[in-house]
Amino acid sequence: RSPLDVAAVRADFPILDREVGEDTPLVYLDNAATTQTPEPVIDAISRYYREYNANVHRGIHTLSQEASLAYEAAHDRMADLIGAPGGREEIVFTKNTTEAINLVAYAWGLSNLGAGDAVVLTEMEHHASLVTWQQIAQRAGAEVRYVRVEDDGRLDLDHAGELIDDDVAMVSAVHASNVLGTVNPLDELAAMAHEHDALILGDGAQTVPNRPVDVAALDVDFFAFSGHKMAGPTGIGVLWARESILEEMEPFLYGGEMIREVTWETATYNELPWKFEAGTPPIAEAVGLAAAADYLDDVGFETIQAHEDYVARYALERLEEREDVRVFGPGPEVDRTGLVSFQMEGIHAHDLSSILNDHGVAVRAGHHCVQPLHRKLGVPATARASFYLYNTREEVEALLDGLDAARDIFG
Ligand code: PMP
Repeated sequence: RSPLDVAAVRADFPILDREVGEDTPLVYLDNAATTQTPEPVIDAISRYYREYNANVHRGIHTLSQEASLAYEAAHDRMADLIGAPGGREEIVFTKNTTEAINLVAYAWGLSNLGAGDAVVLTEMEHHASLVTWQQIAQRAGAEVRYVRVEDDGRLDLDHAGELIDDDVAMVSAVHASNVLGTVNPLDELAAMAHEHDALILGDGAQTVPNRPVDVAALDVDFFAFSGHKMAGPTGIGVLWARESILEEMEPFLYGGEMIREVTWETATYNELPWKFEAGTPPIAEAVGLAAAADYLDDVGFETIQAHEDYVARYALERLEEREDVRVFGPGPEVDRTGLVSFQMEGIHAHDLSSILNDHGVAVRAGHHCVQPLHRKLGVPATARASFYLYNTREEVEALLDGLDAARDIFG
């Protein structure tokens, strides 16, 4: 049984009432890409624009003060959400997870990586970290190593132990894979990294939305996630990093707001976290993201995780039963998030996705920004159904009906 009152949750998400064809209700199963937005988040953003829209930091007038307080409070809210030991100073708002990782790669990587150094990634990295570290390592003359993914969809930790040696300066790993759903033991990778004086970045895009996450317990040095995957708005992401590391790091972007004093020749930088937030930041988005954290917290992250598991495990079971479906990722005995990637025999994932769409079912089809892993799996593309707190087992049935329809068409 699910611990969640799904009907009550669904009533908070107006978009779930819409139809995507004639009398075709929406079955939204693309939550690993972007989640839907509940009324309290929409309201918070709307209230911001209706009541106190203004630029932050610089204004003495009432609206600017209100906007500044709300924007700063959003930093506190994120620090609280992920257990940032240093509080607000350690929370940098970015555009998304991708920009958060780029910030670290450019600002930390370009000044700390050199010839002879190595960066360790996993074979299940999203392009957000894979391509970014590839490029930065190349510029720095550093080497990139990949921790193997085993056939059961788990990381080969023995291999990680072999790869992480004294040459390694950075380990960058997804907390959960957006293709396989595997949740990786970041704490164990962190211990390996720290044993060799390397730093570790966790990509939390697929975990912060659906389970309790504590960066101090994971013992990582950097952590990144996106607002739009956790019932929040698009256009905002978060980089958390240890205060001592942020203090040492050069800025990533230069401009207004991030400076203390500027002369014709040079500039000194503002205090944390503003040193890393050049220009006018995503103020409305920060307000919305804080409201999203409040909303998810009210439901309870343990409850969300248990509900997602309840729906996803059912989908996994039912898909495994089908002879014409190949499911990727670890079995139900492994800690995994609520997504299932699969392939249907004789039907390209794009065709399948298009037929499912005719039935109102929204799933992702493609390489999900993880091309090398798909090559390793031997498939050009997969279909991915990903669940969130508002999804139901009835919606899994709708997905299965859609697969039957696709089978009827393709024979
Ligand atoms: N990492 C992972 C694991 C993801 O799933 C995603 C989004 N698919 C990203 C990074 C990138 O997130 P964004 O597009 O919000 O930058």
